[in-house]
Amino acid sequence: MAPNHRSSREADLAQMQSLVEFTRARLGTEAQSPFGSSVVETDSGRLVLRRLNAVRQENDPSSHAEVRAMRAACKRLKKPSLVGHTLYTTCEPCPMCMAMALWSGVDRVVFGATIADAARHCAQIHVSARQLEQRSDMDCRVDGPVARASCVALFEDPRMVTAMALWRKSRRNPAKPLASRG
Ligand SMILES: [Zn+2]
Repeated sequence: MAPNHRSSREADLAQMQSLVEFTRARLGTEAQSPFGSSVVETDSGRLVLRRLNAVRQENDPSSHAEVRAMRAACKRLKKPSLVGHTLYTTCEPCPMCMAMALWSGVDRVVFGATIADAARHCAQIHVSARQLEQRSDMDCRVDGPVARASCVALFEDPRMVTAMALWRKSRRNPAKPLASRG
């Protein structure tokens, strides 16, 4: 891919569609999650790696797709920096993931579904990725939503709807009902 594809909408769409395919292919398996994330070289578009959310599999509330992807990418690159890389994610990063993206130095974050889209299916923290970036000393471009409908469809897949209903039931501290949010 030529450098002028660096931030083109077509390149972003292709990267996101590929990530959606990766995520969709795992629906109905033990690993299923609507949250997928990839780390890509910004200039070449070369994929470093992709990860899914694995909070339940790893019994780790921080095992969001973005955290797992950035951690694994840093380990593979043998440095704690992702300067020169772009983070793609099927859903707008939560404040934890966006903070890690800022600490990692990624050039860009490109997301699919929004936090509001995800909140129709599971509890969310309502601080946008752009808000967090604006409050930081780091310079990170946030683009999205990209391929929003395809990403929202991951949440709406019947296998995912069934699984998420079960997960909500099994939570000891259920989320506040949406109506109680201030
Ligand atoms: Zn997150």
